[in-house]
Amino acid sequence: MADTSAPLNRPYDLLIVGGGVNGAGIARDAVGRGASVLMVEQDDLASYTSSASTKLIHGGLRYLEYYEFRLVREALTERERLLKMAPHIIWPMRFVLPHSKLVRPAWMLKAGLFLYDHLASNMTLPKSRAVDFRTHSSGRPLKDDYTKGFIYSDGWVQDSRLVVLNALDAAERGADIRTRTRLIKATRSNGLWQAELEDRVTGKTTHVQARALVNAAGPWVARLLAETLNIPNSKSVRLVKGSHIIVPRVFDGPQAYIFQNPDKRIVFAIPYEQNFTLIGTTDIPWNEAPGKVGIAPDEIKYLCESVNRYFKKDVKESDVVWTYAGLRPLYDDASANASAVTRDYVLDLDTQDGAPLLSIFGGKITTYRKLAEHALEKLAPVLPAVAGVSWTATEVLPGGDIGEGGFDAALARLGRAAPWLPAATAWRLLRNYGSRVYEIIGEATSLKDLGEVLGGDLTTREVDYLIEREWARTGEDILWRRSKLGLHLSEAEKQKVSDYVQQKTA
Ligand SMILES: Cc1cc2nc3c(=O)[nH]c(=O)nc-3n(C[C@H](O)[C@H](O)[C@H](O)COP(=O)(O)OP(=O)(O)OC[C@H]3O[C@@H](n4cnc5c(N)ncnc54)[C@H](O)[C@@H]3O)c2cc1C
Repeated sequence: MADTSAPLNRPYDLLIVGGGVNGAGIARDAVGRGASVLMVEQDDLASYTSSASTKLIHGGLRYLEYYEFRLVREALTERERLLKMAPHIIWPMRFVLPHSKLVRPAWMLKAGLFLYDHLASNMTLPKSRAVDFRTHSSGRPLKDDYTKGFIYSDGWVQDSRLVVLNALDAAERGADIRTRTRLIKATRSNGLWQAELEDRVTGKTTHVQARALVNAAGPWVARLLAETLNIPNSKSVRLVKGSHIIVPRVFDGPQAYIFQNPDKRIVFAIPYEQNFTLIGTTDIPWNEAPGKVGIAPDEIKYLCESVNRYFKKDVKESDVVWTYAGLRPLYDDASANASAVTRDYVLDLDTQDGAPLLSIFGGKITTYRKLAEHALEKLAPVLPAVAGVSWTATEVLPGGDIGEGGFDAALARLGRAAPWLPAATAWRLLRNYGSRVYEIIGEATSLKDLGEVLGGDLTTREVDYLIEREWARTGEDILWRRSKLGLHLSEAEKQKVSDYVQQKTA
């Protein structure tokens, strides 16, 4: 593996601020083109928006209503690519869309879905079709008022793992990835960026130099410009909070539901972590500082009401077992309505005073790879180190080389290679790590060889891997971002995981 990281006394080609999906995607692409890259993330990878999404790899059916054809076409093309790049953490899903007389006419849904099926030329997923809920199994959980609707394809992603796998690939190609490291100041001098970084664990500061800086700070993009870099900028970001609730499983089957609300918004109900249903999201303008955000009681009520209009089984506020919320860092296109603000991205390149600065406004998980490619194309004329050819469209992410026959065949092979692994554990490990599962199980020939069980089926061997390879530093990193085991473990087990990680990383 080539070590392209900059020696201490030499400038990096690229300093990337932000370890969300956009920062990690740009780091991977840039290092693969031969650039020396440093990416800094103030907390854990994907601590903010990139772990709080609805986790859809989708074109965004509803954006067609806002004539966002460029974005939808790009996202649909990316959907196909991502399904191949990371078949362990990204998989196809069918979405059931009941027709409701009160919202959009059936012809409009049909026309929208026709466009959705045909905008991208590389679609391999099953196309949309009309369904009669009186006879189709997906109609079973729905109230009898809903007799007709449609079913169409999109994708599902384990969002925070997508970020980690991009960072991991970048690191394996030579990028320097530093978590819990904040950019506190950067100035241009002699055509270079002079940056001051703070280690948020030790409080120590260090100085680095870089030829170009990428501001991929998500919700902080405007603040980083104004406060940390002291650079006036005409573009701004609009923060819109979106929240989700998780309840015990409301319906059976692998299909998800997309429900139209009387306010014309849509809400998804998605099978989640085997035993649960994920319901979201909301669109609430956010005018306070970026940071950790939580769901408000009226959002819980709104989400329950949204699904209760459609499902026979009533979802009560008291059923909620977990919630999460995040801030969409949307490019401010001056729309009056938070749901109408563009979900497309804008790249702003500032080359004044020599050292280039590229700021990322907006974006979707789905379009992160293409965004990275566009970002580097934009930088290439002023940063020759990233001028190499784009290469990420066909290269799998770590663990994505699961072999012939897709996930089921890979699971069967794992079953033969490690017959002692319980079926549910084999499934979970393959879904999280893909082919890297073999790195975790190593020479083990029995469950006992994987070390102590900390809770559920989480062993010390797996936790060690997450600490050594995936930058996990706290129990929360493991329970809520590297996995969603937090939903399955008891409070005592979660504490045990945290204690173990603390002792290992002390
Ligand atoms: C509710 C909701 C639902 C969504 N659903 C979907 C969906 O289903 N599908 C889809 O494709 N997209 C979806 N999105 C959009 C998608 O999640 C975002 O576009 C994407 O995650 C943004 O990534 P990012 O890297 O720009 O920002 P972030 O993930 O927020 O990353 C920015 C990072 O920068 C770091 N940072 C900031 N300042 C500094 C500093 N000074 N030093 C070091 N680090 C710093 C932050 O800690 C943060 O981790 C959704 C978003 C939301 C909120």
